Amino acid sequence: MQASARISNILNGGSDGWDVFNRARDMIADGVAVTELTIGEHDIRTAAPILQEMHRAAVAGHTGYASIPGTTALRDAIAERVSTRTGVATTRDNVLITPGGQSGLYAAHFATLNPGDRALFIDPFYATYPGTLRGVSAEPVAVQARANLAFQPRAADLAAVASGARTLLINSPNNPTGVVYSRATLEGIAQVCVDHDLWLISDEVYDTQVWEGAHICPRALPGMAERTLVVGSMSKSHAMTGSRIGWVVGPAEMITHLCNLATHTTYGVPGFIQDAARFALDQGLDFEEEIAAPFRRRRAIAQAVLAGQNAVVLVPPQGAMYLMLDVRGTGLSGETFANALLDAEQIAVMPGESFGEAAAGHVRVAMTVDDGRFEQALRALCRFAETIS
Ligand code: PLP
Repeated sequence: MQASARISNILNGGSDGWDVFNRARDMIADGVAVTELTIGEHDIRTAAPILQEMHRAAVAGHTGYASIPGTTALRDAIAERVSTRTGVATTRDNVLITPGGQSGLYAAHFATLNPGDRALFIDPFYATYPGTLRGVSAEPVAVQARANLAFQPRAADLAAVASGARTLLINSPNNPTGVVYSRATLEGIAQVCVDHDLWLISDEVYDTQVWEGAHICPRALPGMAERTLVVGSMSKSHAMTGSRIGWVVGPAEMITHLCNLATHTTYGVPGFIQDAARFALDQGLDFEEEIAAPFRRRRAIAQAVLAGQNAVVLVPPQGAMYLMLDVRGTGLSGETFANALLDAEQIAVMPGESFGEAAAGHVRVAMTVDDGRFEQALRALCRFAETIS
């Protein structure tokens, strides 16, 4: 019996770009001490008080089917957070709670694209994007944000392919580049969306990890609230990756459609997880800064280490838990560099090519091991690059 073309097409017959990661995992399973700088996951676990609240809520009986769009308390908390941070009036009717940002991304595209529609996204991209778009039977159209323009996408490049498209997916702060889109970039994007009648899907799961500049939510730009779906998550902001809790914020009518989708797919998110998420949001900005602090520190460590060499070039890290290193000076592709580094130094980083053509000749370094080990690994990476430059 055959699987559907749609599901078989999710990977499009190609690799999912995680070969180095898988090889590192195999080496670790064989007992090799690999420094793992691949996956975007904190080196701390979810804070004990959040887990205690989860436990309390479960023991208190919040274990049955929960309200499908999300509990009123959590939707209100997200609506208030969004209103305060963006200035866009937002109520619970604009909020759907989802099992993580990933599921929000899928739902947002399912809700806005018909089969065969052109769906624009920016290259370099978070590795799952093309699969998500193929998964809803859309035609993914990558638009490059160029390395020589600091990976800020250009409105002219988007406009050139926007005809006949229905959606545009962006992500700032950006995984994998660590770039935060400027106001000018976002205004250009908004203009393209208005001119070409596009839905904007704005993936903002790193919005609490901004090291330089400011996060601007494009939903707050003129004419955008009615055509923007913002995908958010507590995975990165509250170190709750395994709790699978996120949201989509957008026009109330679209949230009603998304709620229908949730009724026929996820059937909502467990109530005890939602209660813990509400509790976590109540911990406020200081707590969010505490979760972001290790990455802020390691970014400074990286800037100091990389200043003392010229074998690799650091893309200015403005946000998110990653560094992008340009390794083209070594003459190697990102993929060859990452594989060779793993063999020579037992350090695992992601090849830029895993995130699209625009990141070729780069590697992405996740800042997800303790400061001492991180610094040592970066020094070893630089020495390695120097030996082959
Ligand atoms: N979007 C981006 C850009 C990501 O990097 C990730 C995870 O790494 C996600 C979405 C999905 O996050 P989650 O489903 O854990 O909320």
